Amino acid sequence: MILILSPDVDKHSADYRQLLEHLAQLPGIQYRIHEEHGARQVLTEVYLIGETAALSTEEMRSLPCVERVVRVSEEYRILGRHKDDSRPTEFEYNGVRFGQDTLHVFAGLCAVDTPEHVEQMMRALRDNGQVCTRMGAYKPRTNPYSFQGHGKTCLPWVFELAGKYGIKVIAMEVTHESHIDEINQALHVTGNPTGVMLQIGTRNTQNFELLKSVGRQKTFPALLKRGFGITLEESLNAAEYLASEGNRKVVFALRGMKTNMGDPHRNFVDFAHVPVVKRLTRMPVCIDPSHSVGSRAQAPDGLLDIFHVTAQAVIAGANMVLVDFHPDPPTALVDGPQALRLDELAWFLEDVRIARQAYEQRSLLAREYQRTDTGTKSSAQSS
Ligand code: PEP
Ligand code: MN
Repeated sequence: MILILSPDVDKHSADYRQLLEHLAQLPGIQYRIHEEHGARQVLTEVYLIGETAALSTEEMRSLPCVERVVRVSEEYRILGRHKDDSRPTEFEYNGVRFGQDTLHVFAGLCAVDTPEHVEQMMRALRDNGQVCTRMGAYKPRTNPYSFQGHGKTCLPWVFELAGKYGIKVIAMEVTHESHIDEINQALHVTGNPTGVMLQIGTRNTQNFELLKSVGRQKTFPALLKRGFGITLEESLNAAEYLASEGNRKVVFALRGMKTNMGDPHRNFVDFAHVPVVKRLTRMPVCIDPSHSVGSRAQAPDGLLDIFHVTAQAVIAGANMVLVDFHPDPPTALVDGPQALRLDELAWFLEDVRIARQAYEQRSLLAREYQRTDTGTKSSAQSS
């Protein structure tokens, strides 16, 4: 059970003390307090764990400072959507809002290679009105002899270039707790020219110590990739690890599943799960068409498979697109064969815009039908 307290509740008030005293004497119940510092107010939630079935929602609602009570019906206590749950489905980071109703494209390099390529990428993004990108500095590779990424040495110039071109959020994978400190430090010495969303890759979805580290810090939001060989439930529990440690600014990414059933794509595209994740949780949902498809294969209609699967996810309500681009794909050090070219960026963005518009029309239509009891659109609404 979750008690949602009145915004900006005074922690030194008699009412607050009385609430905690009451909770402390409830048999078989433990509580945990979580504070969410928003731009305008501080939201306090109290998580009750244990014999909550015996508690009456009405009674808890009447306790001092309590505004609302949510009975947890699913296992993802913090990030899940529960009955009568109107907790937010969005967060803001570095001036950019991420929610289940927004859409951001993170086009960029799978792996940072040269300053020239990074600058060409950033310039193209700025010229196309983009404020987000992806830049891999720490690369988890299957083969130990493959390029492992430039690591912390590239961070200062990557961040400076991002600042120069107005990039506000860079999705960057971390594979070890120490990388968070390195990113923090590089941002600090360069004067915080940009922001970072810490990405947890599919190979680390169940690296619980890494999840706890990313969850304990609240400076950076997190982008958690679905594990490529585990159930959706297991991956959603991994996201809950981040939240249970204190970081609720989590975006959940679908990136395809490892099975030969998906051939000839690199992974079996799982974007049909976009609305499922939005229904089960309050997280914005990202899709990664590049690591799902894994090639520049093109359909007879002239559209690359990467474009097709992106549109399929966006038309189903995806909130973020993480996509590999490269100024010169044949020279890319990682994943060149799946990279889109810079001269395809405007085309890609326009294709995404068309799909998003279709999604907005579809959700409007759904709301119109749902307004009537029978599910039939009324003549007044259709005129
Ligand atoms: C990536 O996005 O660079 C990446 C390695 O993705 P994944 O973890 O999904 O394989
Ligand atoms: Mn890659």
